[in-house]
Amino acid sequence: MYQAKAYSVTSASSPFAAATIMRRETTERDVQIEILYCGICHSDLHTARDEWSSVMPTTYPCVPGHEIVGRVTKVGSEVSQFKSGDLVGVGCMVDSDHVCPTCQDHQEQFCHSATFTYNSPDKHGTAPVTYGGYSESIVVDERFVLAVPANLDLAGVAPLLCAGITTYSPMRRWGDLNGKKVGVVGLGGLGHMGVKFARAFGAHVVVFTTSPGKKEDALRLGAHEVIVSTNPAEMQQHAGTFNFILDTIAADHDINAYINMLGLDGNITLVGAPDAPLQVSAFALLFGRKSLSGSLIGGIKETREMLDFCGRHNITSDVEIIPVQQINAAYERLVKSDVKYRFSIDMASLKSE
Ligand code: NAP
Ligand code: ZN
Repeated sequence: MYQAKAYSVTSASSPFAAATIMRRETTERDVQIEILYCGICHSDLHTARDEWSSVMPTTYPCVPGHEIVGRVTKVGSEVSQFKSGDLVGVGCMVDSDHVCPTCQDHQEQFCHSATFTYNSPDKHGTAPVTYGGYSESIVVDERFVLAVPANLDLAGVAPLLCAGITTYSPMRRWGDLNGKKVGVVGLGGLGHMGVKFARAFGAHVVVFTTSPGKKEDALRLGAHEVIVSTNPAEMQQHAGTFNFILDTIAADHDINAYINMLGLDGNITLVGAPDAPLQVSAFALLFGRKSLSGSLIGGIKETREMLDFCGRHNITSDVEIIPVQQINAAYERLVKSDVKYRFSIDMASLKSE
């Protein structure tokens, strides 16, 4: 084991502070990565503050971060895909059982033994739980390490590892979006990636936002139209017209208002994960045979496909680059829906701690 610098919280109410964590030595299949950038996902905040305590309680100390890009510094003797110096990414998972039907089907995110990048029992016993990317380095099984397209800006690539795949996967699963009317609810980290992908897939893209000030950005990011969801008249104009809606809202909200936006056989997929249950009106679904689904990140094979797609179409996240010392301030802005459109931590800033 070796010591690595990190930023952690020690309770649901404590701020982030510099800490030292243990990482395992690289085993045969492992890749050691010097972390260059790590995105801040709203899931990091839910976890750091134990907002998901009823489903996934947080073990402290907690080091979040699952939008990791970095440079390979060491590889184990059996690693075949990577070598020192390669630029790579790590997303929300670092291991799974590799043998169950979902793993065989390349959907490791649903493996009952999946190890998530942070706050998951650490199978290697290095620590009680896994520690994520708010750190100078990480050691990961090569099967969960992803090559990063060389033509893309690294700070903007980091968020693709969660916000990117989480929005890409349900849209791909829905089918061919070309010419379809697609809504993206919430223009945050996930939402702005959803807009970019929906546009790249040829959809007519409409953003639902509670922030009128984001209207111009939504159009710049690729939306054809923007609806301020707090304005009933604007909502009414579009009622019953959408084929597919992706809901990325991180807090409690009236989902029926968005189900009512769907046309016949329309689908709304939830990727946002508010801590409290949502109230769904049966009638909103019955009339129009509408469906409500959920989606969780994506498998490793699909994440590779997404990264290739981004490389070909020059898609990255719009980021505000911050030093680790500003994580607490960034979290406060995240709660206020005030981020354009993802914070990406420049991990070189950890060197001075
Ligand atoms: P984010 O950057 O904070 O964006 C969320 C956006 O939702 C905000 O920018 C805001 O957009 C809107 N919003 C926030 N509070 C709202 C409210 N009370 N009512 C209506 N709209 C509201 O968060 P994120 O990182 O994109 O994550 C979004 C959610 O997805 C989180 O719950 C996160 O845990 C979850 N998530 C799920 C997965 C998965 O695999 N399913 C993966 C990653 C994250 P406007 O200002 O435009 O209204
Ligand atoms: Zn995430």
